[in-house]
Amino acid sequence: MIRDSASSSAEDEPETTITVALGERSYPIVIGEDLISATGRWISATVPNARCAIVSDETVAALHLAPLKASLDEAKLYLGEAIVMPGEASKSFPVLATLSERLLELGVERGDCVVAFGGGVVGDLAGFAASILRRGVRLVQIPTTLLAQVDSSVGGKTGIDMPQGKNLIGAFYQPALVLADTNVLDTLTPRDFRCGYAEVAKYGLLGDAEFFAWLEQDWSDIFAGLGGARRRAIETSCRAKGAVVAEDEREESGARALLNLGHTFGHALEAYAGYSDRLLHGEAIAIGMRLAFTFSFEQGLCPADDAARVKRHFEAVGLPTKIADLPGEIPTAEQLLRLMAQDKKVKRGKLVLILVRGVGAAFVEPDIDPARLTQFLEKECKGR
Ligand code: NAD
Repeated sequence: MIRDSASSSAEDEPETTITVALGERSYPIVIGEDLISATGRWISATVPNARCAIVSDETVAALHLAPLKASLDEAKLYLGEAIVMPGEASKSFPVLATLSERLLELGVERGDCVVAFGGGVVGDLAGFAASILRRGVRLVQIPTTLLAQVDSSVGGKTGIDMPQGKNLIGAFYQPALVLADTNVLDTLTPRDFRCGYAEVAKYGLLGDAEFFAWLEQDWSDIFAGLGGARRRAIETSCRAKGAVVAEDEREESGARALLNLGHTFGHALEAYAGYSDRLLHGEAIAIGMRLAFTFSFEQGLCPADDAARVKRHFEAVGLPTKIADLPGEIPTAEQLLRLMAQDKKVKRGKLVLILVRGVGAAFVEPDIDPARLTQFLEKECKGR
């Protein structure tokens, strides 16, 4: 389970530390303002004597690399950096090969550390490179998108994409430290911020009704970065994800499955849209979560009001909620069902969905009735 250095989001504390408890692979997630300029100190304290090679993308490097580099330089830990192109295309074998060569050129040795400094793309790619370089060097995640701070940097899933699908080559490889600097999010585009927010809301919807109720009330403070709200949102999300990871590190016992609320519908929509700017991951799962709530309501599992709250809240923050919100052509129910059947949540031909009994009460439904799902999607896929 999780141990905390601060029991709540005390604004007088300079930062909050949450420990993901995984025995000898336990690690701290530190959340606070201006952490990047103190990276050298944090790494010295957590991974003593490890020199650091930074992996980032061009956008993040242009905006935020200087203070990170200065801090590592000052601590005499800086080895150099490898900068990749921004975007999902960098999660590929060719980029992994070039990156690995560059890290070896920089002189990264067994006791050294790869610092993944970027969004989920950089975190997944650099994390996987760290897991295979010299059979594994240390990894520090400094996530710079909201999605990466609340989701991808925590939990140890790393990897790259293949023509057959996303994240098909990779490794579970836990970081030694996660530093979530809340100020770095100020430069995100509103669209990328909203995408990360969909994952924040997910933690409330799947298991924490009180958190969701707070989000409904104070979401604009999180977007504006006001009054400790952003830190509280990240902290609550990381605590929720960390607890699930500590219970089911490698997705074996099933506890981790609840994190996929909205994802089976969402992945099918993302695949239909070609993993492009037409529909980003967070937008796809916002639609997916709304569909999971409406489907649950229609099966008599969830109160109508809870399903309505989800739709209302996502509309308020500017996230899409309907299949028809996808710009351009929209899929037919048949196309979506075919894509859903390819999802990794299909077990021996049976489609597994995460459904809800209400806000904060998700559960795994291992045997979805295909006829009911088809009927539901036919209705949802009807024009605009
Ligand atoms: P991303 O890494 O592509 O970042 C989105 C965009 O924001 C990029 O253009 C990036 O350059 C830019 N950016 C990053 N930080 C910025 C900042 N502070 N200011 C301005 N621009 C900034 O995308 P993402 O949404 O962070 O992550 C998506 C990836 O994460 C996907 O590849 C997905 O598969 C992966 N993911 C992994 C896990 C996991 O458990 N490992 C979980 C969820 C998602």
